[in-house]
Amino acid sequence: MSDDTARPQDPKEPRARGSDHCVVLGASIAGLFAARVLSDTFDRVTVVDRDALPELDENRRGVPQGRHAHAILPAGTRGLQEMFPGLLEEFEAAGIPVVREPTEMHFAPGGHLLCQEGRYADPTPTYQPTRPQLEGQVRARVRESPGVEIIDRCEAAELLSTPDGTRVTGVRLVERGGGAERELTADLVVDATGRGGRAARWLADLGYEPPREDRIAVDIKYVSRTLRLPPGALGRRKVVIVGAEPGRPTGATFLQHEQDRWMLTLIGYGGHHPPTDPADFLEFAKPIVPSDVFEALCAAEPLDDPVAHRYPASVRRRYERLGRFPDGLLVFGDAICSFNPVYGQGMSVAALQAAALRESLDRGRDRLPYRFFRAAARKIEVAWQMAVGSDLALPQVEGDRPLQVRLTNAYFERLLNAAERDPALTQEFVKVSSLLSSRALWDALRRVETLEPAAKGS
Ligand SMILES: Cc1cc2nc3c(=O)[nH]c(=O)nc-3n(C[C@H](O)[C@H](O)[C@H](O)COP(=O)(O)OP(=O)(O)OC[C@H]3O[C@@H](n4cnc5c(N)ncnc54)[C@H](O)[C@@H]3O)c2cc1C
Repeated sequence: MSDDTARPQDPKEPRARGSDHCVVLGASIAGLFAARVLSDTFDRVTVVDRDALPELDENRRGVPQGRHAHAILPAGTRGLQEMFPGLLEEFEAAGIPVVREPTEMHFAPGGHLLCQEGRYADPTPTYQPTRPQLEGQVRARVRESPGVEIIDRCEAAELLSTPDGTRVTGVRLVERGGGAERELTADLVVDATGRGGRAARWLADLGYEPPREDRIAVDIKYVSRTLRLPPGALGRRKVVIVGAEPGRPTGATFLQHEQDRWMLTLIGYGGHHPPTDPADFLEFAKPIVPSDVFEALCAAEPLDDPVAHRYPASVRRRYERLGRFPDGLLVFGDAICSFNPVYGQGMSVAALQAAALRESLDRGRDRLPYRFFRAAARKIEVAWQMAVGSDLALPQVEGDRPLQVRLTNAYFERLLNAAERDPALTQEFVKVSSLLSSRALWDALRRVETLEPAAKGS
């Protein structure tokens, strides 16, 4: 077992079920991962979402990001493998593209095209379902887990608690449409309602301090559209990711989802937002992607209109630093930490939080919130440092740049520079950005010290 991902479990493993009950608010990726882990410990788990949940892989209002490119990093892939055995094999059997070799990926973070020679040191491949496909399949698996019920079209409005507010005892729900109210009592309520989650406000209502928020105002805009490309139009490449760089605060992700169906997402930081007009959208891609990719885009058949999504700021809520917190409540997923999506970390960090939840539950339920928030914060830390550091390398992003950030960014610049020609250094960088191990970042930075001055590019 890896130290950073959830332990393998058989979801069908029989166990005696009594009446202890957990309610998970939010049936998106984080809520579903949490429900999967909790169903091994709680007799009953009820997952609640305010959206009408589609049968399988359709977009829905509560997850507008589903219309944009979503990549799962290897840490997330391992989490999926461990929580939902067989799911990835089903994706592959259904023809969903799988990236196994560096030649299948054009990855250019921070202005450096990483070396496409050699083999990935970690054997975990990258699977490329669409976001609705992934969520739909995970939801179907969670729905089948013993003791789990998923209720849709119900909005969580308020927490129920003991009169002194020291324990959360359930949640008040309002049905969408009719407006009827109902109360669900629970031994544990988990808020997984995303970056707009209400836990901080609910805490204040119960007389607790809300958590401190760390924020990086990135002012990102995503514009995406689905395209049909003839098979083989990009040779062996199944994914093209070009990150922003200091002289060009824009980027692109082009992902193959089916044999001939690809998603193009263009991004831009404040003042450099991509347009939604189809012709301008294509022009915007020209200085970002390699010329042969641009030619393929021009020849591709659009399958929908460009859609936009604004993302104002990365937000990390420091629940682990609170001295007082009620029993019977946890916060999970983006509701704790919402990352600038260009680094593709959110779902993988949700899988790491699921591993933290499992580890915390393995030690019982006493002081669970405190133990879980500390364990989750350790999993979040490296991803947050990576995202914030990369954003602050762009002069367009406002924020303090303490010495540690400047040094780390200078080291990464050297590492990426040398990685353009060196498969081993490319592996170091991929290991860090995969979130597979919290030690990889420090190993990679140490590795820079061993580079010849010429290889450092300075
Ligand atoms: C544009 C964009 C692109 C992204 N790309 C990637 C990527 O490439 N890779 C990656 O790993 N991550 C990516 N992410 C992040 C990823 O989508 C999230 O990290 C992931 O969905 C987990 O979030 P979550 O489940 O905590 O919250 P969300 O996905 O936001 O879901 C919240 C859920 O709560 C429900 N809800 C909200 N309020 C209530 C309420 N009061 N009562 C009941 N239900 C409620 C909503 O309907 C929704 O289902 C991206 C995000 C964005 C915005």
